[in-house]
Amino acid sequence: MNENVTAPLRARAEIDLAALKANVRSLRAHAPGAAFMAVVKADAYGHGMLPVARAAKAAGAEWIGTATPEEALALRAAGVEGRIMCWLWVPGGPWREAVEAGLDLSVSGMWALREVVAAARESGRTARIQLKADTGLGRNGCLPADWPELVRESLAAQRAGHVTVTGLWSHFACADEPGHPATAAQLAAFREMVGYAEGEGITPEVRHIANSPGTLTLPETHFDLVRPGIAMYGISPSPELGTPEDFGLRPVMTLKASLALVKHAPGGLGVSYGHHYVTPGPTTLGLVPLGYADGIPRHASGTGPVLIGGKRRTVAGRVAMDQFVVDLGGDEPAVGDEAVLFGPGDRGEPTAEDWAAASGTIAYEIVTRIGSRVPRVYVDEGGA
Ligand SMILES: *Cc1c(COP(=O)(O)O)cnc(C)c1O
Repeated sequence: MNENVTAPLRARAEIDLAALKANVRSLRAHAPGAAFMAVVKADAYGHGMLPVARAAKAAGAEWIGTATPEEALALRAAGVEGRIMCWLWVPGGPWREAVEAGLDLSVSGMWALREVVAAARESGRTARIQLKADTGLGRNGCLPADWPELVRESLAAQRAGHVTVTGLWSHFACADEPGHPATAAQLAAFREMVGYAEGEGITPEVRHIANSPGTLTLPETHFDLVRPGIAMYGISPSPELGTPEDFGLRPVMTLKASLALVKHAPGGLGVSYGHHYVTPGPTTLGLVPLGYADGIPRHASGTGPVLIGGKRRTVAGRVAMDQFVVDLGGDEPAVGDEAVLFGPGDRGEPTAEDWAAASGTIAYEIVTRIGSRVPRVYVDEGGA
């Protein structure tokens, strides 16, 4: 890591942009025939939307993807050029601003088509829309029964000059589970729905369905564009599929804090709220100034792993709002010494995946939930 960065005293999330760029290149090599959409929703899974979007573009991403239009508009306002797509709309959303910003807007149903056409009329612009098919995720998207109407009305709006249908797309439910039959079924449904729309006269620039597991493990899902999120941040979509190294990926976020207190404690001392940890004998305790307000899962009480002074320690007792304690087993690191909660894992520190296992969730949630009180510090070893 580049140690020239000014280290905020309490805690920081170091974001290794060189690793991010290398991950983009690695993912592109997995899908050489497809365009690349860098998914930066939810503040780039906690890594910081704008620096990540810029780094991904520098590494060759042609498209940027967000969930909400507000995220996409913020990128545009910050000067990010080129194609930006957003997909999570509600009635009354900022359609007109989005049309005027030249975003690609996902349309999952007739209500959305009506709103985008109205916005296009008002602004005197042609909106770029991408029709989303629900091929079996059962979440957002247009189900096969409603597809003919959406296709027909989109074509009518296109003929009237209000919209251009730039894409046909969908999203997987179970691509992270090798061999899950839903994936093949979704792929077949996608081919059929795309075939229908093209048969009716839609000529999409891009057809796409692949998320990270699709990009990494299912070449038949790549079509014209891939949309990896978690893998770009160097995290495997599922431990079942493989480790980040198996895929040529490196975790981008390292979460660190400075020890706020180190003290000798007698045996029998109840530690933190509820006294769920009691020191088994005389020992030393270290106070880590991060808590659930910072996104440390309270479910990691008694289980979360931390590297301090070259040794793995475990959260002792409950994670509180702002802090937690570790039993240092008699060691006496200095106050202010570094506690590494997670990172790439090759310097003895735990990984986000370890925290996910310790708290009964997925690594996606571990990185994404790191709160705004933790400064992101960008490091870029450059040319790596
Ligand atoms: C979040 C998201 C992705 C990226 O998913 P990963 O599993 O993180 O690769 C792709 N497409 C859509 C529609 C998404 O919401």
